[in-house]
Amino acid sequence: MNQDLISIVNELHTILLQLDKKIHLPQIVVVGSQSSGKSSVLEMIVKRDFLPRGKNMVTRRPIIIKLTNPQSSNIKPYARFEHNRKTYYDFSQVRQEIDDETERITGKKNISDKPIVLNIVANDVVNLTLVDLPGLTQNATKHQQQNLPEQIRSLVSSYIKNPNSIILAISEATVDIANSEALKLAKKYDPEGIRTLGVLTKLDLMDRGTDVLDILEGELFPLRLGYIPVVNRSQHDIEQKTSIERCIKKESKWFKESKAYSDIANKCGSKHLSNQLSKLLLKHIHKTLPGVKDEIEIYVREIERQLKRVSDPFKKLGGNKGAFLMDIFTKFSSEFQNMIDGCSTEISM
Ligand code: GDP
Ligand code: MG
Repeated sequence: MNQDLISIVNELHTILLQLDKKIHLPQIVVVGSQSSGKSSVLEMIVKRDFLPRGKNMVTRRPIIIKLTNPQSSNIKPYARFEHNRKTYYDFSQVRQEIDDETERITGKKNISDKPIVLNIVANDVVNLTLVDLPGLTQNATKHQQQNLPEQIRSLVSSYIKNPNSIILAISEATVDIANSEALKLAKKYDPEGIRTLGVLTKLDLMDRGTDVLDILEGELFPLRLGYIPVVNRSQHDIEQKTSIERCIKKESKWFKESKAYSDIANKCGSKHLSNQLSKLLLKHIHKTLPGVKDEIEIYVREIERQLKRVSDPFKKLGGNKGAFLMDIFTKFSSEFQNMIDGCSTEISM
């Protein structure tokens, strides 16, 4: 039942994107400074190496990643983009296509708010919708537009101001948390910290004898959803081509064997993070669905009004596509109600 709920929201996402209709659907948005480890965190959750990497600004368009677990072991994992409708079994080609599609729209240096939508179907992922965004920066480099840091901030803000977004605020454990750009921006749009989950990266790179226990205990910048510390794939791992699977095992061992974290090892690491995110998203969908349903109903009524008024009511929506979408919306509306009625108390963190 709960997994179905996420699949339905994923489908709705796709339809609404085609329509360019802004209805606020629940999703998890990744925010952090450039090189703080955003792409690495996502790859550890998706358990695949598929995001473009590099020293400079690599993510220049929002990447909406929809993970679906088909609940069937005989499906070979694949990825499919909305823009070219192609299916990829080789994830290194996914990385190349993200690069190419980024460049097609933005050229070599700029950013764009037009998202790249990627569906990933695999039986070792949890059902989640994640959004990767360009990293926050303080200054433009020599060849960048001078207002690029503001452009990025405004793009990131447009995603996290959505009250239905869960903010995954990534901060490097090696940098003083008081300077975390992610937490600063998250706080602006979620001052009470009710939809912000903190992630601390690069624990393995901290100075010997230092740890993040005070942050985890909520001593410094408390977040209601708390913080999860992780050890991602390092640059060395990438160069050595160490698989993500191996890195996840190494990470788990690292926490279990560390002096500071061994007692709380089951609350650390990327596996714990993806499980928490899945629960959080369900809880959030459950809370926000009635509002989404209202928005959709208003929209359906708007189409109905057009239907009465105009001779070719669906012209604006693109011929038969309009009627088709209208059908789906109506179906979704009733399925939503069933979902809301059906999963009232089964979600708890
Ligand atoms: P992004 O710009 O925020 O997407 O950052 P990336 O995920 O591309 O990471 C930037 C660099 O930091 C890469 O070389 C990663 O391998 C490295 N990195 C990220 N997280 C960790 C971590 O937890 N430990 C170590 N040792 N390196 C990390
Ligand atoms: Mg990145």
